[in-house]
Amino acid sequence: DEDPRIHGIKTKIRVVPNFPKPGIMFQDITTLLLDPKAFKDTIDLFVERYKGKNISVVAGIEARGFIFGPPIALAIGAKFVPLRKPRKLPGDVIFEEYTLEYGRDRLEMHVGAVELGERALVVDDLIATGGTLCAAMNLLERVGAEVVECACVIELPDLQGRVRLNGKPLYVLVEYH
Ligand code: AMP
Repeated sequence: DEDPRIHGIKTKIRVVPNFPKPGIMFQDITTLLLDPKAFKDTIDLFVERYKGKNISVVAGIEARGFIFGPPIALAIGAKFVPLRKPRKLPGDVIFEEYTLEYGRDRLEMHVGAVELGERALVVDDLIATGGTLCAAMNLLERVGAEVVECACVIELPDLQGRVRLNGKPLYVLVEYH
């Protein structure tokens, strides 16, 4: 029942053990980007799912959500809004903090980029603990947008990140156990 394109995508994601630190199996999507067919299949699968769903904004999470988000946004006729790490956006921002393995980080969004009642799709390359996607959803919901779904290329299901999403639907192409 799995789309035949998924297998090709899976084979192009390089897993780098112990990067950036011991114990982490880093999912490297740069090797997927080197293969135009697999990269296009990735974007097409998301576009096929979201076109015609009245999504007005694709919110991409820095940094790898900036690779997958914009082509999806263009293809479905939505605007693209970057959710950035601290002190990168020049205008007025709202922010959400989230916990990392060590310490805290935050995501920022420009005030006025997303309006009340908009229908949003949140895009990142990967969900691990779900903390990053949770912060992104909170930013959008604080300004009155409806988060329709979160979309990632890869899920690490053993970390149970879906629990952090409070029932919000998550769509992923590839699981890594
Ligand atoms: P989390 O907030 O724990 O769901 O972590 C997700 C964020 O961290 C995403 O922006 C990912 O790009 C990055 N990330 C976490 N774990 C990995 C991993 N094993 N390989 C690649 N990126 C990861």
